[in-house]
Amino acid sequence: MSALPTAARRALTSRGIHTQAALPRSTSYTTAIRRIHHRTIVSNAAAPAYTQDADRSFENEIFVPPTRPNLPTTEFSDRMAAIKQAKPFSEFLTDNFHRQHNYLRISVTERCNLRCLYCMPEEGIDLSPPSHLLTTEEILHLAKLFVSQGVTKIRLTGGEPTVRKDIVELITELGKLKAVGLKELAMTTNGISLARKLPQMVEGGLTALNLSLDTLDEFKFQFMTRRKGLSNVLKSIDTALSLNIQPLKVNCVVMNKLNVDEIPSFLAMTKDQPIEVRFIEYMPFTGNKWESGKMITYQEMLDRIRKSHPDLHKVQDHKNDTSKTYQIPGYKGKLGFITSMTHNFCGTCNRLRITSDGNIKVCLFDNAEVSLRDLMRAEGGMGPGGEKKLLEVIGVAVKGKKEKHAGLGELESMPNRPMILIGNGYQRRLPSKTTSSIPLYLLSSPYVRQSIRAYSTSRIPSQPVITNNSKEATPAQKLTHVLPSGAAYMVPIHEKAITTRTAKAVSTIKFSNPTAVELIRSNSNKKGDVLSISRIAGIMAAKKTSEIIPLCHPISLSKVQVNLRVADDVNGAIEIMTIVTCDGKTGVEMEALTAAMGAALTVYDMCKAVDKGIVIEGTRVVEKVGGKSGDWREEGWIEWSEV
Ligand code: SAM
Ligand code: SF4
Repeated sequence: MSALPTAARRALTSRGIHTQAALPRSTSYTTAIRRIHHRTIVSNAAAPAYTQDADRSFENEIFVPPTRPNLPTTEFSDRMAAIKQAKPFSEFLTDNFHRQHNYLRISVTERCNLRCLYCMPEEGIDLSPPSHLLTTEEILHLAKLFVSQGVTKIRLTGGEPTVRKDIVELITELGKLKAVGLKELAMTTNGISLARKLPQMVEGGLTALNLSLDTLDEFKFQFMTRRKGLSNVLKSIDTALSLNIQPLKVNCVVMNKLNVDEIPSFLAMTKDQPIEVRFIEYMPFTGNKWESGKMITYQEMLDRIRKSHPDLHKVQDHKNDTSKTYQIPGYKGKLGFITSMTHNFCGTCNRLRITSDGNIKVCLFDNAEVSLRDLMRAEGGMGPGGEKKLLEVIGVAVKGKKEKHAGLGELESMPNRPMILIGNGYQRRLPSKTTSSIPLYLLSSPYVRQSIRAYSTSRIPSQPVITNNSKEATPAQKLTHVLPSGAAYMVPIHEKAITTRTAKAVSTIKFSNPTAVELIRSNSNKKGDVLSISRIAGIMAAKKTSEIIPLCHPISLSKVQVNLRVADDVNGAIEIMTIVTCDGKTGVEMEALTAAMGAALTVYDMCKAVDKGIVIEGTRVVEKVGGKSGDWREEGWIEWSEV
């Protein structure tokens, strides 16, 4: 930056601003002029103009209010018009904790050309039908609306934003919002297919870039991303440097035993290049197999770095930074830590997210999502009336933002979209306190009341909720065989410990006439000994469970016991109780149930000739012992043994 030019200094003095105090000597000419403009507007307006308030480094400087500025008449009247229009920060984007959300992250696709271990579930993800995703027109409509309310920074993310076909055009259109208040247009990308498009993106208005790169080792890259492409990413970094994109940040998720040893190589990148490398704590998302042992905390990383760089020093962070920034003396670049897991930065959070299917998500770690897409697609949704509705619903969502997100312990067990799907159809759910925290003026809108109703009916705290293309449950009730998309999958058990597990199940066969029980009691059924054959059938069925229940693992069973007894009922009944045990990595409830059903169906089969009205009922697990989820027994159930 050049020293403050005389012209700028004069311009300041003419507006009553004492330059020594107001601007450091190193301030560039454009910055100085912008600040003059900013000061004049703020000082004349009844309330601060929210479109002009982003330069926070200026906040504590001494300021002497100007008298009437020495400006040509037209410029002066333009400015006065702007002052008249100036208003406090949008109420719609301000939450109950006075956080003003002027940063919007938009996911522009769910697709990705990599499969990073920590992001994409191993089983892959089901993509939304294209019609569920926001169109370019809808993205632009929302972006304009948010900028009109005071958003000054937009970041495009995904999925991988560069795989969106019209990404360059989208950036160019968004770049035009700079004329109405947007200051920063950024993108987070894996850099695989970026280098060639980057010059056009910059020309279109892209101002900042975050590139994700977790390893500098070709082999490890392939392992961590399940794809090749390290050289492409490095080329993108070089191109970004040559285009002088600033800030240019490299995001590196640090994982134990995987890439933690590469921290020094990443630090070396900051030596001669104006790059900020940001080390990210590994976060849990549904399906990413997060384990605390795989995570390296900020403090651990810091301790490691300090061993080789004891002179590492802290750099002043910006007010809303999520990163804790440091620098090694003499190095051109910086390093930062994103500490989502160990130190939340909720107090100063100024971000909102739009998922690729058009939901607003007020916190990365909150499952509450509200569809803006559906509002836009309703009749008149893109017109002025539609904008009003959108703002009302956005206001409701923002007011529902919690003071801070869950801590490490809770996050670990909370269901959440994988990062790649912070843009796809999970159940929509607002925090329970939302309605009570919505300002009355918003509740007066029938539209908002309707949306709240929709959310509260989809939020049944004690039961898993399944909506359209979404599946979610409370941690305890998570459907383990179901992917976030709703697709079925077999739960991986290779990392589970071997323990002794037992499950007991029951079933009852009721007859509609007394003949069957009489035949069973006298062992004179034409087909043979009903109880003995059914017992054998139950045992065989238990052993075949994995062959007939698609998502069950084959398990080596150590015990299968099938008990049958004749019970009192109007026309008599047969009760079945099964006990299945294994020493293994997964439970045997399914085996116990299959044993019970196998035995029950055999009783049915052997007795159907004398009774067409047989009912099999009450088949259920009544007890399970062992395994991570603990022991459980049905209240009031009493075990019995055959006599
Ligand atoms: N595909 C782009 C990319 O990789 O940069 C943009 C989307 S990606 C989901 C955004 C960022 O989230 C990346 O920097 C990625 O490293 C980070 N991320 C994804 N999953 C994460 C996890 N489990 N823990 C920490 N960071 C994660
Ligand atoms: Fe793709 Fe980015 Fe997720 Fe990696 S982190 S799988 S690049 S979306």
